[in-house]
Amino acid sequence: MPYRFVTGVNDVRNFKDVLGIDFSPKKTCTFDCINCISGRTNILTDKRDEFHPPNDVFSEIETFVNEDHMPEHVLLTGSGEPTLYAGFGTLARMIKERFPDIKVVVYSNFSLLDREEVRREVGVCDIVAGNFYTVCEDEFKKIYRPIESIRLQNVMDGMKIFRNEYDGVFMVDTRFFAGINDTEKNLDGLREFMEKINPHKYYIIDAKYGGNPLPSAFIDLVKSKFDGVPFEVEYRV
Ligand code: SF4
Repeated sequence: MPYRFVTGVNDVRNFKDVLGIDFSPKKTCTFDCINCISGRTNILTDKRDEFHPPNDVFSEIETFVNEDHMPEHVLLTGSGEPTLYAGFGTLARMIKERFPDIKVVVYSNFSLLDREEVRREVGVCDIVAGNFYTVCEDEFKKIYRPIESIRLQNVMDGMKIFRNEYDGVFMVDTRFFAGINDTEKNLDGLREFMEKINPHKYYIIDAKYGGNPLPSAFIDLVKSKFDGVPFEVEYRV
């Protein structure tokens, strides 16, 4: 059966057996990141919208699980930022109620977490993961190319409040782009911010931006800065 929303089962990072769900028009995001694997953002917006009725999305998931495969995880993603989907919370709740053994995961850019209703909906998920690359506004603008209404401070405030409220698993990854956010100022700020956020897992990744790997001296500096932090760090450099 052809599916509109179910994108298939894969392993994603350290998660095995992940059923991907995409409910956004291509590509709808609050950002237009320079490294986005989905290409340029077609709809740059901060307005949430019910792109499809959550019932329609859920009914496909239910059909897939009943007829094909019961996955360990369902990843609520989208061609863009998943929390722009106004049906997000309803859909997440439906999955958890019908399939309590499946872990619901979201991968977000954290840009809307300063909104109370978004935190409430995202908080339904068992695992919240996402990217956060810099504490410097100029680097933030260069990498994320955000919609004007979203400032770095919105993202940082939202992450901090959410982390205090949420009792599920919270994971963050930082990609370093040679020549953009590979600054000592950013490293120091990231360490300080991440100590406040205290994620369950923090990934540090070489974006190999423009085909350029990070200099080895910078990688050594990153490792020394994050030495002894009270959370788990995994290096992909
Ligand atoms: S936040 Fe994610 S989906 Fe949006 S532009 Fe950036 S990488 Fe692409």
